[in-house]
Amino acid sequence: MKIAIIGGGAAGLMVASTLVEEKVNAEIYLFEKNDVLGKKVAISGGGRCNVTTGITDKKELLSKYIRGSKFLIPALSAFSPKDVMDWFQSHQVPLKIEQDLRVFPKSDIGEDVVNLFYKILRTSQRVQLHTSETVKAVSSFDNKFTIVTNKKEYDFDLVVITSGGNAYKHTGSTGDGYDFAKACGHTITNLGPSLNSFEIKEEWVKRLSGLSFPDAKLIFILDKDKKKEVQGPLLCTHFGISGPVVFALSAHLAFSTISKLSPKKIKLNPLAIEHFDSYDKKVMALISNNSAKQILNTLSELLPKSFVEELLIMANIPKDKKSAEVSKSERNRICNLLSPGIELALISRRKGDEFVTAGGVELAEVNNKTMQSKLNPNLYLAGEVLDIDGLTGGFNLQSAWATGRLAGINIAKMVRYN
Ligand SMILES: Cc1cc2nc3c(=O)[nH]c(=O)nc-3n(C[C@H](O)[C@H](O)[C@H](O)COP(=O)(O)OP(=O)(O)OC[C@H]3O[C@@H](n4cnc5c(N)ncnc54)[C@H](O)[C@@H]3O)c2cc1C
Repeated sequence: MKIAIIGGGAAGLMVASTLVEEKVNAEIYLFEKNDVLGKKVAISGGGRCNVTTGITDKKELLSKYIRGSKFLIPALSAFSPKDVMDWFQSHQVPLKIEQDLRVFPKSDIGEDVVNLFYKILRTSQRVQLHTSETVKAVSSFDNKFTIVTNKKEYDFDLVVITSGGNAYKHTGSTGDGYDFAKACGHTITNLGPSLNSFEIKEEWVKRLSGLSFPDAKLIFILDKDKKKEVQGPLLCTHFGISGPVVFALSAHLAFSTISKLSPKKIKLNPLAIEHFDSYDKKVMALISNNSAKQILNTLSELLPKSFVEELLIMANIPKDKKSAEVSKSERNRICNLLSPGIELALISRRKGDEFVTAGGVELAEVNNKTMQSKLNPNLYLAGEVLDIDGLTGGFNLQSAWATGRLAGINIAKMVRYN
């Protein structure tokens, strides 16, 4: 039997390694267009590779996937974050769980993760690594496949598409897998960017470039007047907003129209304090304790000073006003800005900086217990090419490992029984 794996990223490397570990009696070709394997894996997590998450609660884990969570249940049960950790550690890649539950190699070197796969695959007689070989076309006839690359034409009995999405294109993931899946009869859903920053209209945010709010809340309306909130660290930049809470926002807005002509309005609550009254109580207490101080300095005990300066401009209150002289209506203006939040207008996504692609191969056409195509029994799919995407925190690699593992295990079973 001849098996082709198209794409040597997270999912493809896991499929190939699983086939090796399961001692599958087949010739395995791994095609990777780059001259190295796992280019995106190596740079992920800022070069440290956030391999998975320390979250163990299944419901919480599934809530981190914006699309595909239900589909992922069997894969995440069969190869959970804990299993992923055990797997890497049993292969001499020691890991650590950080305070926010992100899991990294102890070395903080993403390359260590990729090198493990090189070790597994290079020591196998069964795997042929075809790096620097780009698959140009896949066609299928009578459940057999022909693959044309930039070097040669091949015939295969079984194909696994693990070519990733189309985010961070310079890493090789240029969306080719969608064309291959389509050529095999699959439907591709709408595609959109996810886990990206936003350019915004408000100049005051840009003036605060470099300032971060460790626990901000963003409130927005999703389709059909559905109010949604996301919470976490936010970073002001020279173009707008970024950081984990903004990436979470972008995941929800992956398919929303956002432009200068059609800006998306959101609200920023900088301390994620729910109610106007709670802010008011805090502000009142601060004022009564610091009555002789300028209001700028008083409020700077609650919020970053540079932000308070902008807040006071928005509230039309002189920053050097004595705290004791701030009127009730002025206090109301401040608290009304903070809760529910200050309105911001998103005017565009930061082009090309999204981490993942939302959308992909239609999940209804893939068996989630095996990763086998429902349209062709000799075709498997795994990783970001599927209509699955998660938030930041190790969830996207986790789904790539888990779907890759499940595909590998089931291909091994299939080959054994044939
Ligand atoms: C900057 C950045 C940081 C990230 N950090 C994290 C993180 O820390 N944790 C996390 O969980 N997720 C992270 N992600 C997301 C995560 O890296 C991806 O979701 C994951 O790598 C997807 O795995 P995959 O195998 O499906 O696709 P990829 O890893 O993208 O692999 C696909 C492979 O297929 C190859 N390929 C494509 N087309 C062809 C072709 N025609 N012929 C041959 N080869 C082809 C590509 O070159 C590529 O190597 C990050 C993403 C980015 C861009």
